[in-house]
Amino acid sequence: MRNSNFDELKSIIEINSWTKNKQGVDKNVKIFAQWMKALDFETIFHKREEIGDHLHCVSKKRKGKKLLLLGHLDTVFPPDTFETFKEDDAWIYGAGVCDMKGGNYVALQALRNVYQKYDEIYNIDFLLVSDEETGSDDSKHLLASLASEYDYCMVFEAAGVHDEVVIARKGVGTFFIEIEGKASHAGNHYSDGADANLELAQKLIQLVALSNLAKETTVNVGKIHGGIGANTISPKAHLTFELRYTSIEERDRVLAGIDTIVSTSYVKGTKSTLSGAIQRDVMQPSSAQSSFVERINTLCNVTLSTEKRGGVSDANIISSQGVPTLDGWGPYGDGDHTIKERASKESFIKRIDLVSKILIGFMEAEI
Ligand SMILES: [Zn+2]
Repeated sequence: MRNSNFDELKSIIEINSWTKNKQGVDKNVKIFAQWMKALDFETIFHKREEIGDHLHCVSKKRKGKKLLLLGHLDTVFPPDTFETFKEDDAWIYGAGVCDMKGGNYVALQALRNVYQKYDEIYNIDFLLVSDEETGSDDSKHLLASLASEYDYCMVFEAAGVHDEVVIARKGVGTFFIEIEGKASHAGNHYSDGADANLELAQKLIQLVALSNLAKETTVNVGKIHGGIGANTISPKAHLTFELRYTSIEERDRVLAGIDTIVSTSYVKGTKSTLSGAIQRDVMQPSSAQSSFVERINTLCNVTLSTEKRGGVSDANIISSQGVPTLDGWGPYGDGDHTIKERASKESFIKRIDLVSKILIGFMEAEI
């Protein structure tokens, strides 16, 4: 099994691929495409003008189930903020080493092991997107349109601290409410005004009250502004809030609540408009997903530990399209989104070994 040479990983980590650095992301994409071509994958570039291209690596197809491996090549680091690659006995340090060039590398090494064994790969494709760190605003459409081609998806974000795979992630949406009131002199014409700030205050309290901590639903009004000065009834106010939820029922309950709050004028004469949307829908555990776990356990003689996470990834997008999805197949690491990002070497080795077994099992028997 290949597993212990990190020179190739170093070569992509040293090329900055901040989401807004199209040139750098594209360089990473080209290198990955070369590696995948060597395994006889067809490499389809989904060209983009503003962001890096997305790369869809497509294997030969035969009858049976289809598996998608999913990763992203962008990072959160602008050029010159975290460019070094270092290693010691236990850890590798660098931008994207666990989030998630390292995960992509696990998938690549596992595919190489499959190719070495069979000289060909069937029914396993690999999609690498370029904009995950800014919300996958572009790639989510591509991913949603490809979803129907696949029966399973494995996402290579970092593993849990005890090698857990991820079976659930909260959904998240960001919204904005613009409140229009009526300005008036706070001394001479107090009653002529319609106070947008007071309306904002009422709405804020109502919005936060939509939270249900027992169900892990949270509404957070993270930013507000409004008004002109102390002697003017505020003519305008604005609030920005975020919703996180663990089930579709909760999402729908809160969305309906938001609509009611926006259309209600608590202060006579004010008018409000809502914008924003759900960015990534919830990844919910399902029976198809537990059969996927069971099948892997039997095939590879392991007992996968699973966990739920609050943060989002592209697993949210593909699983909310109905594709049984497991996330967290990358190496374990910590410090992601900081210049202390690192990934465990031992975990790399374990993950490459496990994912190789799974892919070989998939080639032999279909999962
Ligand atoms: Zn990230």
